[in-house]
Amino acid sequence: MKADAKTGKDPGNIAGSAAMGDTGTKGAIEQSLEDQCAARGMRMTDQRRTIAQIIQNAHDHPDVEELYRRASARDSRISLSTVYRTLNLFEEAGLVTRHDFKDGRARFEPIPDTHHDHLIDIRSGRVIEFRNEEIEVIQELIARRLGYRLVDHRLELYAVPLERGAGNAAPAGNQSKETP
Ligand SMILES: [Zn+2]
Repeated sequence: MKADAKTGKDPGNIAGSAAMGDTGTKGAIEQSLEDQCAARGMRMTDQRRTIAQIIQNAHDHPDVEELYRRASARDSRISLSTVYRTLNLFEEAGLVTRHDFKDGRARFEPIPDTHHDHLIDIRSGRVIEFRNEEIEVIQELIARRLGYRLVDHRLELYAVPLERGAGNAAPAGNQSKETP
């Protein structure tokens, strides 16, 4: 276990009802990935700092190749294997999470302060983050009915875009509307 009282990070914390992107007033938690690495005693080389910054600034769940592209554009000395090793290091430290969105490539993102789930557009590979309180509650209920207390979950929706003008009322905009 790598519970860390210092950062107060709790991936299983689904108690809040904050909308996505609402980080609240947690102050110290909003540490950069670099700072979190340093706080864990990780030796931070320039290359690791660059890679940490790139992961932190990426909001598209990039894979290793894409992270390598971005990192080597900033520092041409960074090799693909350095990116691999650094990602493993960050992952082992519990600072970065790996996703398998069924397209054969691992994708990475920093462990978020607030929980979210993902919808994956299987045509374009685009990943959309969402959070739905009803789903959160239902999952807890299911666990309870099975005799468990839910501590974490991972939910991935695989989808194709609605076809416009094909008899359904897909809006012209790209809004994600839920019909009650
Ligand atoms: Zn995400």
